[in-house]
Amino acid sequence: MIIVVNNNISDSEYKELISYLKEKKAEIHEVRGVEKRIIGVIGNKHKLDKDAIITFEGVEKVIPIIESYKIASRQMHPQATIIEVGKVKIGGIQPVKMAGPCSVESEEQIWQSAEEMAKQGVDILRGGIFKPRSSPYSFQGIGEIGLPWLRDAGKHYGLPVISEVMQIKQIEDMYDYVDIYQVGARNMQNFKLLEELGKTDKPIMLKRGIAATLNEFLMSAEYILSQGNNKVILCERGIRTFVEFSRNTLDINIIPMIKNVSHLPIIVDPSHATGRRDLIIPTTLAGLTAGADGFIVEVHPNPHVALSDGAQQLNFSQFAKLIEDYKIIENSVEILRAKKMKEIEKDASSSLQ
Ligand code: PEP
Ligand code: MN
Repeated sequence: MIIVVNNNISDSEYKELISYLKEKKAEIHEVRGVEKRIIGVIGNKHKLDKDAIITFEGVEKVIPIIESYKIASRQMHPQATIIEVGKVKIGGIQPVKMAGPCSVESEEQIWQSAEEMAKQGVDILRGGIFKPRSSPYSFQGIGEIGLPWLRDAGKHYGLPVISEVMQIKQIEDMYDYVDIYQVGARNMQNFKLLEELGKTDKPIMLKRGIAATLNEFLMSAEYILSQGNNKVILCERGIRTFVEFSRNTLDINIIPMIKNVSHLPIIVDPSHATGRRDLIIPTTLAGLTAGADGFIVEVHPNPHVALSDGAQQLNFSQFAKLIEDYKIIENSVEILRAKKMKEIEKDASSSLQ
């Protein structure tokens, strides 16, 4: 349930309410909004009486959370969540640009990529170290040796880095080397991995599984959030459909849908959604226009020799073209984002009135 509390409540009255809830063993999540405070009560182990809660000073309303995901729901947190990674803000007015190779392949390749991505105004450098491959005979990632290469290249050019974590053990191994942990589509429902990531203090980018429904996607986010880590970034990377000309189908619909039902930022990944470089630019622009908080695109110094996902990686000049095209709509996208953000937040707050 959600307890809506007036912001004029005194500190002692608020404390009294909180200790009552704790006494009842309620798991609570507090959100301080501009006009109201919201206390989310999660789980069903507590024995809370709605009629008793409403009698507390400052409590305006007690409403049930309708969705099965709770902490991820927009109801619980009307304001959009903004996740800060160094100087980069994910979920704010400016969409975030993440780019870099599918896989880190050598020290030289990642340094070359970092230099070029920084030059082209990218905010976050990507590079897979541990790779989930469909075939056991394909390149499985450079492994641990690549971690300092990625971190140092990023650091040198002022770029925070993101890389995929596939196993619980790797959380610790990667901790000092990455700024954002990526959970891949194949691990979206690896619940034990998600729970462990929920205990870290680093942002997690959770990619949508190839056949995951909206509800399953947000329930996976909930696994991370419920452990105390509220820095969850969602990523739409295409779903499996009957379409045969592209690797997956970018589900544009889920972007505005997520915005309606959740406060979490969502990034669009046109590389894995299409699997083909000729579709990357239009789908990136479509994703951003639909409200995505940024994009993640695979870029390689020479995609023809890439050890993974060669067909979908852009070379440096193709990526420059993406940036050039994005600049044409950048201003309008930001104006639209600010407008939509206000509208959605207003609607979500008024449902708490
Ligand atoms: C990747 O980002 O390289 C990757 C493997 O993505 P996904 O998990 O979306 O397939
Ligand atoms: Mn890839």
